[in-house]
Amino acid sequence: MKRLSSAVVTIAFVDIRDNVVAVRERIVAACKRAERSSGDVQLMAVSKTQPTSAIREAYEAGVTVFGENRVQEFAGKLGEIAELRIEWHLIGPLQSNKAAKAVELFEWVDTVDSLKLAERLNRLAGEQGKTLDVLVEINVGAEEQKAGLHPQSQELRDLLAGAERLEALQIRGLMCIPPMTDNPEESRPYFRKLRALRDDLAAAKFPRVELDELSMGMTHDFEVAVEEGSTCVRVGTGIFGART
Ligand SMILES: *Cc1c(COP(=O)(O)O)cnc(C)c1O
Repeated sequence: MKRLSSAVVTIAFVDIRDNVVAVRERIVAACKRAERSSGDVQLMAVSKTQPTSAIREAYEAGVTVFGENRVQEFAGKLGEIAELRIEWHLIGPLQSNKAAKAVELFEWVDTVDSLKLAERLNRLAGEQGKTLDVLVEINVGAEEQKAGLHPQSQELRDLLAGAERLEALQIRGLMCIPPMTDNPEESRPYFRKLRALRDDLAAAKFPRVELDELSMGMTHDFEVAVEEGSTCVRVGTGIFGART
């Protein structure tokens, strides 16, 4: 009896379809406030730790772009949902020994944070005969422990300048994870900063570099991100509920 009641307490019912609808409505409202077209903002479902049944539900609710953090976890899940027409993004840090697998499984790698990684991905994509779309991850808060290139770094400029010879990569934009905070308004200056950086870099006109995409905003701050120009919000718990 005791066991049963504790189980009942921990199982929370999550309606993924309702959540997707609600998140989409909030994106549309944020676009309205910012006088943007809601068609310019992609909703990415972040499905790390989620079972394939949950991915299927979000897909059936109309989401076609998904993000996963770990190559190994994703490789284990993909077989069960390979027939779904999903655009898969890697949004977690990439170790060099997983890069070949990542290039094989993902259409996009959104966390390119060094020239060395870009060169490796380019070589592997070339070997696999594919073109990989990538975002450059920016450590927009210049945090000690965080992945991403420093906004003012020479390496960022070198990476973009190198794009001309990285023919199997297509740089599409920038991505950031601002410093953690409970208050979404505290993310706003960082989103602004990423957008301003993008505008600066775009003005420099690096050959073969596209900087149309700004991947920014998560469950707690995606509306602010949309107001500040995000083209892709990455929502996990807001769609699937709390991760266990
Ligand atoms: C987990 C994760 C998300 C989603 O976070 P939520 O707060 O659950 O929406 C977005 N982006 C990245 C890079 C993540 O690792």
